[in-house]
Parts: sequence; structure tokens; C-alpha cells
Amino acid sequence: MRIEILNTGTELLTGQVLNTHQQWLGERLARTGHPPARLTVVDDTPEAIGEAVATALDRSDLVLITGGLGPTADDRTREVVARLLDLPLEEDEALLEAVRERFVGRRMPDRVRLQALVPRGAHVLPNRHGTAPGLALRHRRKGRERTLLMLPGPPRELRPMFLEEALPWLRAGGLLPAGGPVVRILRTAGMGESLVEERLEPLRSSGLEIGYCARPGCVDIRLVSRDRCLVDRAAVRVREILGDPVYGEGDQTLESVTVGELARSNLTLATVESCTGGLIAQVLTDVPGASRVLDSGWITYSNASKIRLPRVSSGSLADHGAVSEPVAREMAEGVRREAGTDLGLSITGIAGPSGGTPRKPTGTVFLACAAEGATTVRREHFPLERTAFKRRVLVEALRLLRRVVRST
Ligand code: ATP
Ligand code: MG
Repeated sequence: MRIEILNTGTELLTGQVLNTHQQWLGERLARTGHPPARLTVVDDTPEAIGEAVATALDRSDLVLITGGLGPTADDRTREVVARLLDLPLEEDEALLEAVRERFVGRRMPDRVRLQALVPRGAHVLPNRHGTAPGLALRHRRKGRERTLLMLPGPPRELRPMFLEEALPWLRAGGLLPAGGPVVRILRTAGMGESLVEERLEPLRSSGLEIGYCARPGCVDIRLVSRDRCLVDRAAVRVREILGDPVYGEGDQTLESVTVGELARSNLTLATVESCTGGLIAQVLTDVPGASRVLDSGWITYSNASKIRLPRVSSGSLADHGAVSEPVAREMAEGVRREAGTDLGLSITGIAGPSGGTPRKPTGTVFLACAAEGATTVRREHFPLERTAFKRRVLVEALRLLRRVVRST
């Protein structure tokens, strides 16, 4: 089974838009045990799309094309594919009706009708988040059955369509054979990649592939094998060996796990951030259901705001500096008290590149979590570039929060 992804869009080549489909689709396909063998990006011209589709269909069983299904002049995918495969384009009544419904009360531009055109024999993949439907085709080429999927460009349309429409259609048609390798991804935080790898050395065995993917503060462990038992046993062993750093699996993120644990423990939270500029509150609010646990997130960047909002004492600021244990503690206790929440989380640090001193070098950060009767403060040092520093502190903050939740 050979799969290719073909992304269309001049904006992907010029760097105006990051090609997230490669990563997202690649990851989703890898999880089914069928990672793509090739990723190609071409511009919006019919020549480039036509040539790339023809080449891909010559050598692959399944080709996924993204983008160019919309109504504008640079959306040519549908027409190019129909011409290449010699299929007439037919207007689909139900699709046209759905497109019309979106224009009730407004004039519908003529070009919009194009989205109701379907190459003869194609299966329509409904688009619940936009007008352009996806299309799926079976086609015989070079003596073999090929499958071609056309998916819309916007990620918020493509992702649900791939999961809810395309995958089930492929499975129902036996076009994505089961029995490919089994893949499980365990997610860890707070342990370096080399250490994770060293600890998991005993797991190395024939028939099991272990892969690592590191991001600031986190390492994902990919277990792959044709033998499901081998993967399941390895997953149990990984949890035994690494323990606490394993926070989840598959789609789980550190923030989703954290929000889930706060919700299950019925705990509310308020945050006060300095050097992370609201990042903690931002990722927490990305999790559906965060409103059950997060009361408020403050950004107190200046000393004055640290005094005004979480009511840090000016004495502590003068004596110890904004990046210090006492200030982190007072920030966490202050935000908890002022917001009236169960927990208060604070961050204060030096992101750099300037501002460091020999005693508090750039990358120094204090994190504090205040709970009923006890405040935990940690000092860390992450000498990283600004953005990576923030991501790294975020991971540490969520780890601290989880530890406090579990001991509360
Ligand atoms: P539309 O109906 O919105 O025109 P479309 O199917 O014609 O959808 P495109 O016009 O190719 O798709 O792309 C629409 C938008 O989707 C792009 O401007 C871009 O923001 C986003 N997009 C397209 N391809 C990708 C990609 N590979 N990765 C991330 N975003 C993408
Ligand atoms: Mg378009």
C-alpha cells in the first residue's frame, strides 16, 4: 500500500502559509499504520497540478490532494483531475442546493456554482465547515486500482472531513487495509530525550520499533510493531519504567490532561504570569471545558502591576527583585486570594536575551503554586531562545500544577 500526499497552493511555496496538512495528515495516516511514502507541494497552476497528479497516480495506490476546491479562479483541482481522468463534470443537485442555502438573502456569485460540480462516478465527502465538498474517486491506472481523495485547503474543513468522512469511506471500501503495523504514542514531560532513550534501552527487541520525538520539555515515544501484543506490553513497560513523566497517550496534550485532572478534583485555578505573557492561560483555554476550572489569567509584566494586582509587597520586590522566590510566592498566593480560587499559579522569570545577572542568569524562572495551607515554589534554569523558553516554562508550570492537584 503506497500513499502520497499532494498539497496545492502557491502560498505554501512562498511561505505565506505553513503547510500544516503534511504534518497533520502524515501523522493521522501513520497512526493507521500506513504513513505516506511521499509529500509533494505544487503551485496553483493547472499544469503543475495535472503533472503532479498524473505522476502520483502512476506510482501510488492512494493519492490525497489538498486545496483548490473552492470557487475562486485559482481553485483548479477539481477541473484538472476531471480532465486528466477524462471524466465529465456533472452538477450535483443536492450540492447546489446546499451551496444556495449558504447564500440565502445574498446574491450568489456565479463561480460558487463550480463547487457543485462532481466528476462522474466520484463519491462526495460532505463539508460540514464550509461549502466546497471533498471528492473521492476510484481509477484504474497502469493495471492497478488507484484511489484519489480531494480535500479542501482550510485546515478546519479538511481535518473533520478526513476523520469523519474520508477515513470511514476508505475503511468501508477496504482501501486502507487493517493489519498494518500497530502504532501507539506515549507522551512524556519533564525528562530529557537521552535519558528517556537510555531508560527504555531494555525494551529494544526485534519486531518492535521505538521512535522518539522531542519538543521543549516533552518527549513523545512511538511504539510500532506488526504484533499488537508486543506494542501493548511495551506501552505498559514504558509507564512502569518512566513513571510520573508519562502524562498521556495519543491525542492527549499536557494541557488537556491538566484541565481534566483539575475538573475531576473539582479545583478552580487563577494564573498570574510575567515572562510567559499569558501563554499558560492561552493553552489552558484551548482545552474545551476549561471554563469549569480556570477563573482568570492575569499578566503582570511590570513591577507596578505585580504590586497592584496580586498585591506583591514593594519590600519583596526591592529586596529580592521581581524574579525571586518570595515574589513568585506572593504572586501565587495573591492571585489565589484575589480571585478566590482553590489554586493560584504564578510565573516570573528572565526570558532574555538581556536582563540576566551572574546570580540570576538569563533563563532563570520561578514558578509557584499556592493551595490551601501550602505554597510550592520551584526555581528552574532554561537557557533557551525566548519562544522556546516560554514553551519550556509552560511545560514546567503544568507539571507543577498537576503535582499540586494530586497532593491536594
Ligand atoms: P477555499 O474554498 O477556502 O478556497 P480550497 O479548497 O480552494 O478552499 P485553497 O484555496 O487551496 O483551498 O486554500 C484555502 C486556504 O486554506 C489557504 O489560504 C490556506 O490558508 C489554507 N491552506 C491550504 N492548504 C494548506 C496547507 N497545506 N496547510 C495549511 N493551510 C492550508
Ligand atoms: Mg481556494
